[in-house]
Amino acid sequence: MELPIINHPDYVAKINDDNKFPIKKFGALANHLLEKRVVKTFYVPEPCSVETMKTSHSLEYINHIKNKTLDLKYQKKIGFPINDSVVRRSFVATGGTVLASKLALDAKLACNTAGGSHHATFEMGAGYCVFNDVAVAANYLKNKKYAKKILILDLDVHQGNGNSEIFKKDRDVLTFSMHCASNYPAKKSKSDIDIELKDNTEDTEYLKILNGNLKELNKNSYDFVFYVAGVDIHHEDRLGKLKITDEGINIRDKTVIENFYSKKIPLCGVLGGGYNKSFDKLIELHSMLHKNCASYF
Ligand SMILES: [Zn+2]
Repeated sequence: MELPIINHPDYVAKINDDNKFPIKKFGALANHLLEKRVVKTFYVPEPCSVETMKTSHSLEYINHIKNKTLDLKYQKKIGFPINDSVVRRSFVATGGTVLASKLALDAKLACNTAGGSHHATFEMGAGYCVFNDVAVAANYLKNKKYAKKILILDLDVHQGNGNSEIFKKDRDVLTFSMHCASNYPAKKSKSDIDIELKDNTEDTEYLKILNGNLKELNKNSYDFVFYVAGVDIHHEDRLGKLKITDEGINIRDKTVIENFYSKKIPLCGVLGGGYNKSFDKLIELHSMLHKNCASYF
């Protein structure tokens, strides 16, 4: 058996080349994982159904995306034009995280090659996030009774404000976000646990804080974990303001995966953000999640 990894060619939506979002990373990451033999065959997801999407987003918003009728000012807030290709991508990438979460139940580890759209709230997308795939998948697992207590461990440099909003009143889904205090969004929401890091935080301190928090988290019991493995904490990221090295990210991923795998708690890994100055470096950093998970197979 190999690590279940989910990918769809439609993850690479057609947007203008001058868009700051590195949309081609999803295709490049898939090629990299094949080349490095991390995976032989990807699982290919179906687009997420409106029924499943409705657990985490208003029908009005879903329809605005589906029918491409979202007001231009809200499209700007998202940062993507809502065209056919972006609509398709948004449904398929969410379907990808739902599929990864299902596969993780048996395999204990499974990863999407997209996902972690953590700024999307119930009513609206924002910050390159159309639908909140992790929220949709978490609600899917809960509704199907595949999981009762879920942890969303968000280590992207930006706060997972969409998840904390969506699960504000849900005591069965614990939202944990460790992010740079001065990064987007300017107005933070309230997660169950927020760890705010100072600008320029380096490896040693970052990993010490992470380890301390994992120890605390381990006092609770979960039967499922979503890991948002954003690599925008890297020192050469265009948006993040932290100073984490390649090795720091690799140790972070290893630490998180081992922490839950050793307790047999299923973990679904999703990409999260990454805007490195170097495109090749970006792919290498994102692939650490998949490579570290694959080492258990
Ligand atoms: Zn981010």
